[in-house]
Amino acid sequence: MNILLTGGAGFIGSHTCVELCEAGHHPIIVDNYVNSCEESILRVEKITGRKIPHYQADVSDAQAMDRIFFENEIDCVVHFAGLKAVGESVEQPLRYYRNNLDTTLTLCEVMKKHGVRKIVFSSSATVYGNQPVVPYREDMPSVGCTNPYGWTKFMIEKILEGVQHANPEWSVVLLRYFNPIGAHESGLIGEDPAGIPNNLMPFIAKVAVGELKKLSVFGNDYPTPDGTGVRDYIHVVDLAKGHVKACDYAMEHPGCEIINLGTGHGYSVLDIVNTFQRVNHVEIPYEIAPRRPGDIAENYADPTKALKLLGWQAEKNLEDMCRDTYRFQTRNPKGYRG
Ligand code: UDP
Repeated sequence: MNILLTGGAGFIGSHTCVELCEAGHHPIIVDNYVNSCEESILRVEKITGRKIPHYQADVSDAQAMDRIFFENEIDCVVHFAGLKAVGESVEQPLRYYRNNLDTTLTLCEVMKKHGVRKIVFSSSATVYGNQPVVPYREDMPSVGCTNPYGWTKFMIEKILEGVQHANPEWSVVLLRYFNPIGAHESGLIGEDPAGIPNNLMPFIAKVAVGELKKLSVFGNDYPTPDGTGVRDYIHVVDLAKGHVKACDYAMEHPGCEIINLGTGHGYSVLDIVNTFQRVNHVEIPYEIAPRRPGDIAENYADPTKALKLLGWQAEKNLEDMCRDTYRFQTRNPKGYRG
């Protein structure tokens, strides 16, 4: 299959590109490199030994997208492109709504024009909101998001559901990711956030190589086993394989499905710190800091639907995630731009 990856140069997109190649598909990338760079695609080419057609364009640029669909027989789209920093979205809500919604609307219009009816969307567990019970199941109604980034994911799910409802021949798969971490085991591609990372694992990785002094653990008084926040961390390569399965599923099944991609296991912040130190033989200095506003105590996925519908489940463990993250960080201390 020819599969267009919007935002395919990013962290999850680049790993998905590798797994699609391994499965015999033909990925094509469109990315504006606002939060990524072409180097990641060149690294994917190195890993796979394949040339990856790629375009530098904004997904909200209808003319550019029209040309890409005209030049390529696209069977399916995986839509990753979007701004993704929670804190930034609180400061710049209009930019987030404009960018994330515009790109999706333009993409759907261009897909419709070219008769492409299969789309897999990069959604997030953030759309569940702060649920009173774990694990999170796809049929739980959202209790509302806590920031504009989350609301854009929520709204895009609604847009795609509506498009599918009006066009029953479409296949829409909404993948709700939990906490993707890790890197490809080659050490060639991984997460390369701009500036000081907001997320836990990229922050730890920078502390590990001495670029940042110490980790602040946001709260140790949550109702969890060690008092620190619990999340469902998933290896990005497992996540990428989930996308391959989702594309296969979309080809066969018209309709709209929400599917969690998580492991079903929760780990605390201190579990992550301790495992990272142990497997990598490196010290992670940390201090306990106040809770971060908007954070919840605990979430993890019920991953049974992914197994039932896609035949997918996560295979890598926390040690793999910590080892692979550190390998990418030590080999690329300045990220792709180094
Ligand atoms: N966290 C932390 N220090 C950091 C970043 C995150 O203690 O510098 C904690 C955070 O409070 C949460 C967990 O790590 O309990 C995961 O946070 P992240 O931002 O990676 O993901 P999210 O909160 O979106 O699930």
